[in-house]
Amino acid sequence: MLATKTTSAALSLSISQRIITAGFAGLLGFSMLYVAAFANSDILHNAAHDTRHAIVAPCH
Ligand SMILES: [Zn+2]
Repeated sequence: MLATKTTSAALSLSISQRIITAGFAGLLGFSMLYVAAFANSDILHNAAHDTRHAIVAPCH
């Protein structure tokens, strides 16, 4: 019963709320991929590089 209520609450988001949520999620994803990838820290760069390979994203 609780799970049904949670599902219906999630489906009642307005279209503007969904767009805002998608925008933040996309921004977070791009920042994780590109900001971390171009960082000067070798450890941070290698971690982002390994993550890119792990998710089969085009790299080199
Ligand atoms: Zn690579």
